[in-house]
Amino acid sequence: MALIPLVMATATSGRDPAVRTVAGLEFPRAEQLEAGVEPAKACPVCGHQGRRVIALTVTAHLRPEYWNALGDGFWFCWTRECPIFYYDNARRVYVSKDLLEVRSRFGLKESEVPRPICYCLGVNAERIFDEVENKGCCDSLEDVEQYTRAGTGKWCVTTNPSGVCCRAYLKELVAESLARSSVESRPPVEEVAERLSADEAPRSPVGLKVGGMDCEACGVAVTALIEHAGGRNVRVWVPDGRATLEAAAGLNLPQLLRELTDAGYSSEVTSD
Ligand SMILES: [Zn+2]
Repeated sequence: MALIPLVMATATSGRDPAVRTVAGLEFPRAEQLEAGVEPAKACPVCGHQGRRVIALTVTAHLRPEYWNALGDGFWFCWTRECPIFYYDNARRVYVSKDLLEVRSRFGLKESEVPRPICYCLGVNAERIFDEVENKGCCDSLEDVEQYTRAGTGKWCVTTNPSGVCCRAYLKELVAESLARSSVESRPPVEEVAERLSADEAPRSPVGLKVGGMDCEACGVAVTALIEHAGGRNVRVWVPDGRATLEAAAGLNLPQLLRELTDAGYSSEVTSD
């Protein structure tokens, strides 16, 4: 993961000595936040912005004895080396990756094997590394998905602690794995890495009008449906009833519209 320059945090919370989690574990508070990140959105321990998660996701992974801490304001911390899973700075509720507090391990934050990556289909990092490094599979993300089935699940909003499909970080893992690959017949790593990026290249912007989104959970459900269909950089505005995405070559737009309809959201393509 690329290092991001940090700046001095000006948050008033900078006075707090430590971050205390639901089970009473303590972690040192970040002295600096990632540049440009609003303090409310920043992980209090690593200072980087995470990803907003809905209560349903947190409920699926938080141990039931801490369900009294559930709420709608949680974020998930992506930072690999950071011990925090969920944080809600407004309520000062923090959940670490410690199995005292959560029921799931997040592969990217783990060093011990097996490291779960795709939760829907039970694919771990070791399986992906084996396919890439020893068996020589996979010059593209699609290959990886075909060989390992990672990234093709449908239930990530509850099965994956981060609330999103592992496609969001699969490429990062494959690139890491390629760099170590022992397969000699493979083209140079740079070439393959370039091809992996090129997979994402031919994308066209699509605007959607989406009806029937009443709450944040609807927004997450719509985002998940679009991402699973192959949409990238998906953005959903619940109050406006609209979404934008970038369509990769394999995206079947009519099918996506049908899937949205089946899920209870009327949808049509708009010009923007
Ligand atoms: Zn963090």
